[in-house]
Amino acid sequence: MARLVMKFGGTSVADIDCIRNVARHVKREVDAGHQVAVVVSAMSGVTDQLVAWCREGAALHDAREYDAVVSSGEQVTAGLLAIVLEGIGINARSWQGWQLPILTSNAHGAARILDVNGAELLKRFKERQEVAVIAGFQGMHKETGRITTLGRGGSDTSAVAVAAAIQAERCDIYTDVDGVYTTDPRVVPRARRLSKIAFEEMLELASLGAKVMQVRSVELAMVHNVRIFVRSSFEKPEDIDPHGTPPGTLICGEEEIVEQQVVTGIAFSKDEAQISIRRVQDKPGVAAAIFGPLAEANINVDMIVQNVSADGATTDLTFTVPDADYQRAIDVLAKSRAAIGYERLDGQSDVAKISVIGIGMRSHAGVAAQAFKALAERGINIRAITTSEIKFSILIDEAYTELAVRTLHSLYGLDKV
Ligand code: ASP
Ligand code: MG
Repeated sequence: MARLVMKFGGTSVADIDCIRNVARHVKREVDAGHQVAVVVSAMSGVTDQLVAWCREGAALHDAREYDAVVSSGEQVTAGLLAIVLEGIGINARSWQGWQLPILTSNAHGAARILDVNGAELLKRFKERQEVAVIAGFQGMHKETGRITTLGRGGSDTSAVAVAAAIQAERCDIYTDVDGVYTTDPRVVPRARRLSKIAFEEMLELASLGAKVMQVRSVELAMVHNVRIFVRSSFEKPEDIDPHGTPPGTLICGEEEIVEQQVVTGIAFSKDEAQISIRRVQDKPGVAAAIFGPLAEANINVDMIVQNVSADGATTDLTFTVPDADYQRAIDVLAKSRAAIGYERLDGQSDVAKISVIGIGMRSHAGVAAQAFKALAERGINIRAITTSEIKFSILIDEAYTELAVRTLHSLYGLDKV
């Protein structure tokens, strides 16, 4: 017997038929003797609609009321799933965030989970074999008692937090893809599904735009060592052997990964713009004069590359910002020109960032050098490079994104054979 959390996203609960399908997945695990807590999202499209209504109500609205509105989508699916489960003979009870409770910070719209009370769920597993159906995405502010939400995609985080609270053996994320891939299969048809990936690697992939899971949920899983299994909800529940290993990707601690490849995955983003500041003074305080105003304007700066000055007086500094903030960043820098002191601003928004990720890089030299050579052979120019312990990123012309990703995917042996 195991204790499991099963999380179903919006497309998996899109209508009553889908919810029946979810109920059969739950039944399979219950019949196998497992204790089950289910976490559900709102039906697909519902949260978008609720957000749109809030905006229509008033462009500037109170975040506490936004949370009161947008949390309602999950309330509906939790209740419906409990109804359908009971209908097929399974004890089930729905739980809103405030009922359990799931206590959070008061950052309405982007609250952080502080504590999940799992004791009542454990008691009911034992005494009544009751399945808990928990509304994802929502919690309750610890002091005011008001409903909070966790930010878009937050049901993943709810699921991981519940799994940690009840010490589940695994948190199964049922979604519309059957796992985590080496890169986007739409760009590289030979992308492979990974059977395992380490938390740290998933964190890099998730924050770089692989939209499988909310980044915060992976952080939380890493802290509490919650094993996550990403799998498809569209498989026929009856076809799955509850004691076998279904297709999917296990996100786990690196000690669980026996055959570690040097490179695990490649992420890319076309949503990047490059800004170069030419001939800035090479003296203390200049970086602060540049990045201070950008931070105040809430502009997220990513890759930062600064040259060592050749003449001892001035240098060039290059960094990237999201495409959407490009013009604002240029404006901010133009306004601060006197304070910073530079000769010229150059910028370009048709650039892309490609990141190569793998914990094996810690112990292997020359991984990035291979990439530089392979890209040079394809005539792809590298504009900037940054590295960290388990990742390196390069900035290139956007037009070469697909070619570069495919080239690197083959180079590191990631292609499906
Ligand atoms: N329903 C929420 C959203 O669409 C939370 C979630 O699905 O994870 O963002
Ligand atoms: Mg999601």
